[in-house]
Amino acid sequence: MKTPRDVLEFVNKENIRVIDLRFMDFPGLWQHFSVPAHEIDEDAFEEGLGFDGSSIRGWQAINESDMLVKPVAETAFVDPFFAEKTLVMICNICDPITGEEYTRDPRNIARKAEAFVQGSGIADTAFFGPEAEFFIFDDIRFDQNVQSGYYFIDSVEGRWNTGRQEDPNLGYKPRYKEGYFPVPPTDSMQDIRTEMMLTMEDLGIDIECQHHEVASGGQAEIDMRFAPLVEMSDKMLKYKYVIKNVAKKHGKTVTFMPKPLWNDNGTGMHVHLSLWRDGENLFAGDGYAGMSEQAMYAIGGVLKHAPALLAFTNPTTNSYKRLVPGFEAPVNLAYSSRNRSAAVRIPMYSNSPKAKRFEFRCPDPSCNPYLAFSAMLMAAADGIVNKIDPGEALDKDIYDLPPEEMAKVDKTPESLHAALMALKADHEFLLKGDVFTQDVIDTWIEYKMENEVQALALRPHPWEFALYYDI
Ligand code: GLN
Ligand code: MG
Ligand code: MG
Ligand code: MG
Repeated sequence: MKTPRDVLEFVNKENIRVIDLRFMDFPGLWQHFSVPAHEIDEDAFEEGLGFDGSSIRGWQAINESDMLVKPVAETAFVDPFFAEKTLVMICNICDPITGEEYTRDPRNIARKAEAFVQGSGIADTAFFGPEAEFFIFDDIRFDQNVQSGYYFIDSVEGRWNTGRQEDPNLGYKPRYKEGYFPVPPTDSMQDIRTEMMLTMEDLGIDIECQHHEVASGGQAEIDMRFAPLVEMSDKMLKYKYVIKNVAKKHGKTVTFMPKPLWNDNGTGMHVHLSLWRDGENLFAGDGYAGMSEQAMYAIGGVLKHAPALLAFTNPTTNSYKRLVPGFEAPVNLAYSSRNRSAAVRIPMYSNSPKAKRFEFRCPDPSCNPYLAFSAMLMAAADGIVNKIDPGEALDKDIYDLPPEEMAKVDKTPESLHAALMALKADHEFLLKGDVFTQDVIDTWIEYKMENEVQALALRPHPWEFALYYDI
């Protein structure tokens, strides 16, 4: 469906009685409300439908809360989970008084980021290929006491007490870091991943593969074929929606939090990026690992701004429990065609110019994809415009590097607090073309500090009981 008319014809032909309108909140959770199909006519696409934006996290104050959603025809799809056949459309958000697009709408930011690289002549298309991972668990229980700060820990392993059922029969159970990727019965998640994969294909999301991931407890990865920024962000939301709902259907639960299990691999979302103009991949060349000069500058931009960038690509307190040595997650702000501890890797699977891209390994799927991809693109664009040299590749095995050499390599921030402070100090590159406004940067930092960094710091942690209870 391309136009409002196509949508209305489809609704008519299929006798659809409910239309579900969705949009992205500021921290990154899809929101929705439904209307009877007769509420949507061609004007509704132009003029939008009103809703109260005051309860949406990080948005308007209560006194200026009326907002409009404007459905986007090309995003329409039939929901695969509702009992009643329902057409879903993703919406843009507008201010009813000024009629302007809302500056804190993440989708608006992503559209502006795409327009910025096009308008400045850097590229006509930026392709994003995220490899999101996730855990499929049997069960999670929130203890009442969590709110008041009391937790229980698994006395044997010091894990969070997530209420996960440990089956006493350990036959064929993947051990820590051994999930990649034996056939069943060790892999007990094949059927559920296949259902997730095929449901996505039915929704028009091209999938490249699905597999068990390295960690023990049903860690999974499903990879979508690359797509432009806004389209890929929209797909990322459908992706999470399908995965969570298929899991739910089978009495399971999925989490995209980056480090649910201590001492096992975390959950990343490596993001592959390439920039194209007139059907040519601008990253293909004859430099390091078959890359162009522009590609190296783009990498330079991403590495230079990485500490600030991580405030969007790794935006939770839990994100920084993943970015530690020993679990295939990056800690070194360097690039390499081989080294997986480097934040930027250049995959060498293919020598074809079409396949040239770099992989930013830091991001995790707790991010808001519209904001994370936009911030990445702005950092790459800044590298290209200012010819930022990424320095030497980190190709040596880092375990062989003498400590004085290692000390010269910058590291990923150690906490969300540190990343937010880096963003506070370094965000000019995000403000170009009004893509991220100063208000968005300030609100992001304030929201994350108050609701996540400080909220966590105030609560006693389970491991503190292990350390201090009997002191
Ligand atoms: N899960 C790992 C991460 O945290 C990566 C494992 C992999 O895909 N090679 O990034
Ligand atoms: Mg992968
Ligand atoms: Mg992976
Ligand atoms: Mg990867």
